[in-house]
Amino acid sequence: MSVFVPNLCRKKAWEITRADLDRLGVEGLILDVDNTLTRHNHPDVDEKITAWLEEMKGCGVKMAVLSNNSAARVAPFAAKLGLAFEAGAFKPMTGGYHRAAKLLGLSVEKTAVVGDQIFTDIAGGNRAGAKSILVEPFEMERHWGFRLKRWLERPVLRRIQKR
Ligand SMILES: [Mg+2]
Repeated sequence: MSVFVPNLCRKKAWEITRADLDRLGVEGLILDVDNTLTRHNHPDVDEKITAWLEEMKGCGVKMAVLSNNSAARVAPFAAKLGLAFEAGAFKPMTGGYHRAAKLLGLSVEKTAVVGDQIFTDIAGGNRAGAKSILVEPFEMERHWGFRLKRWLERPVLRRIQKR
């Protein structure tokens, strides 16, 4: 169970503060893309995300993007944000988290993963030794595979909310 429990829950990434990171004891963020920073496969960046990234960069937070999506999707998006990236990451496999931490020049223990999926972003981050921050997805996906995952997440989310 504990591998599915995030260290912190926020509605949207832009609600995460430097004080949150200090409490978690981390200096960097490993950011999921789809449904964390924008809608699934959506090329545009919300102004609130841009402003939040600038604010975090301004207080010395190191950030990189880690996505299971293809480089063709992730590279132009990460370039817009001015962030390094790892695509095709196979989360919840842990290798991508270590590679992303390396991009930041940090040990994985000094990073927190930010993502919208318990069974990929959060479980992988926890297993890799990172801290984990769960955000609500921008929108529910229509593809059956995602809908199944969301349905499976529901009992886990209820248990997290009870804490
Ligand atoms: Mg996602």
